Amino acid sequence: MRGDLFDLEEERLGEEIKKRGAEVVLLQLPDGLKPLAARLASIVERAGASVIISGEPCYGACDVALAEARELNADLIIHYGHTMMLKDLDIPTIYFEAHAKISVEKAVRRAIGLLKPWRRIGLVTTVQHVENLEAARRILSSAGKEVYVGKASEILYPGQVLGCNYINAKVISSNVEAFLFVGGGRFHPLGLALATMKPVVAADPFEDRAYSLNGDAKRILKRRWAEIEEARKAETYGVIIGLKPGQKRLKEAFKVKKKIEEMRKKAYLISLREITDQKLRNFQEFEAYINTACPRISIDEASAFRQPVLTLKEAYVMLGEISWEKLLEEGII
Ligand code: SF4
Repeated sequence: MRGDLFDLEEERLGEEIKKRGAEVVLLQLPDGLKPLAARLASIVERAGASVIISGEPCYGACDVALAEARELNADLIIHYGHTMMLKDLDIPTIYFEAHAKISVEKAVRRAIGLLKPWRRIGLVTTVQHVENLEAARRILSSAGKEVYVGKASEILYPGQVLGCNYINAKVISSNVEAFLFVGGGRFHPLGLALATMKPVVAADPFEDRAYSLNGDAKRILKRRWAEIEEARKAETYGVIIGLKPGQKRLKEAFKVKKKIEEMRKKAYLISLREITDQKLRNFQEFEAYINTACPRISIDEASAFRQPVLTLKEAYVMLGEISWEKLLEEGII
């Protein structure tokens, strides 16, 4: 991972440490940025604070290492790679978004051929490329496309999505025939296809290539339906409560437990920081799980689990409160 691919705002980092007089800083990075940890830690040290690099995984803006910082007596968390999601935390936290400094143009040009069947295109990206969305829009417009960029969230930039939040795509979905996602990796464009049920083409500026996602989304939907059907047969459920600050949905967990019990079945609450098959295997009595934490764990890692692990939305399909067709209409994410 080269530091010159991302704007790490190194000057601001040093200034924030000095301005706040931080003594112990917990530095938190997603895995993709961890190769830059030592470089950032040196900046913190030069600014006069001790720094501890969190070696734990960090998957999103929801995953601020508050518990870790408490245990380590850190007085400031520096969280890289995501847009601010959680405010007023009991340990001051500064988000650094790490915008990519690479051009998206070549990848977007390569996407034009794949977008040929459609004229009205929704443009979507992650925080890393929000500044390049205008360049992408220009390329699409000059190729004769009518381009839409959604803005329906206070915390997100126009056109920006998160792995579990596609509201900026959903608000323009009825206007467009297909979406172009600009960014690296399959995680976000796959989520976009599942959230909107529209054709999705991805333009990856890190690899200067474009590809279509539609087969993947169909395969996943087939599997989600099969898991719902399988979970329906269970008599005893584990309801998972995520311990990460932005994933904790206690009220939802209690509510779904009650709904299951109303069907004369058993449900128990389980708290987990990381949701893995290895951890769930210890609970041999549970035949299926409802995951109230990050929905992408259920959707993207289904094959890693031995039992069905439904998202909250899928649980309500299983309970008969919403139809599968309605869920598809709304988007499973
Ligand atoms: S809940 Fe999951 S998808 Fe949403 S921001 Fe957190 S890690 Fe990403």
